[in-house]
Amino acid sequence: MKTLTLGTTTSLPGTIQYGRWDAFDHPTGHTEFLPVILAQGKEDGPTLWLTAGIHGPEHAGPSVLYKLINQELINHLRGTLVAIPALTPAGLRTQAYVPYHVDINPNRLWPDGKPFKKKDPEKHPPFSLERAYERLFAELTASADFMIDYHNAWTASLSFSFQDRVLFRADEDADQHKAEAEALLAKQQEMLDAYGHTIVVEFPAERYVDLDLHRSTSGSALLVGKIPGFTVELGTGLTPDPAIVRAAIAGTRNVLRWAGMLDGEMEPITGIPQTHPGYRARRTESVRIPHTAIFLSRVEAGDIFQTGDILGDLVDVWGRPVGEGVLRAEHDGFILGREGGIYHYEGDTVLHVAIRDEHPLVAPYPADYFKKEE
Ligand SMILES: [Zn+2]
Repeated sequence: MKTLTLGTTTSLPGTIQYGRWDAFDHPTGHTEFLPVILAQGKEDGPTLWLTAGIHGPEHAGPSVLYKLINQELINHLRGTLVAIPALTPAGLRTQAYVPYHVDINPNRLWPDGKPFKKKDPEKHPPFSLERAYERLFAELTASADFMIDYHNAWTASLSFSFQDRVLFRADEDADQHKAEAEALLAKQQEMLDAYGHTIVVEFPAERYVDLDLHRSTSGSALLVGKIPGFTVELGTGLTPDPAIVRAAIAGTRNVLRWAGMLDGEMEPITGIPQTHPGYRARRTESVRIPHTAIFLSRVEAGDIFQTGDILGDLVDVWGRPVGEGVLRAEHDGFILGREGGIYHYEGDTVLHVAIRDEHPLVAPYPADYFKKEE
């Protein structure tokens, strides 16, 4: 039986063990630790890492982990769950998307796999949190067979999974790297299908890297760590939707069944909207309004639309039409969520959508990615 140790926690077959993994020190003498839960079945099996709480206002993921992991589950489990419900404790304390001790999105701080790092003395050295994630990444890659990272998107948004494309290194041994990427994609796809919520593919490769999405928790685990996994988005963040939490627990148990860690039939995903437009869909830039107006949506999360369909009305403060008076879809796609508020300036985002994906799921890294930086 495999024994796993993470920080102060060591796995014990048939039990749930709790402890701490020291991340970094605060200047006030306090240590920021990440809570660690090691839940191990009595029988051997794969190791699944479940992480949440990297964004302070996103409280559904931790809720899923607390409700998923109990003795009843462990009694039937083969293998080990490594759960970290608070990847950014400081953000969770203050409900801040970006914690006060860094100044960028913490979900863009995981290793990028670049062999040559530019060391610009005028630039900020790695954040304490970035160094911590680098060490935690070494633990993840040492033990994880699979991983899921839990997030929330927008108020009343769809529950969906983000599928990161599998990028491969094409400047050397391209054929071999591509074949490995395709094998990794096949595993990731099976796992996403087992989880069973709506799937949204990430941006195409260039945009994905440009936005540092390859340095997200699941992006880095997949691309650098070669660990099949994905990010899930669980609707409203600060007041988790009980139906979505239940559906995410069911989806995670289905992943356990797919991985051979749990017996029994796959559970149907019920109680939440599911969107299957009949084509693969991807993330896109949000839908913005062409001029300042009040936006009265005609759509809600999960709705499928076609190019030219009316998404909402554009009116002035008296309720009279502004311009054409309507906002039309520029693509085929479906609604992931609506932006909060109805009063918008020109260019403001009003809707978040997924559109038809015509880019490959396995793609080379951008051409200069592995070049030495001058
Ligand atoms: Zn998030």
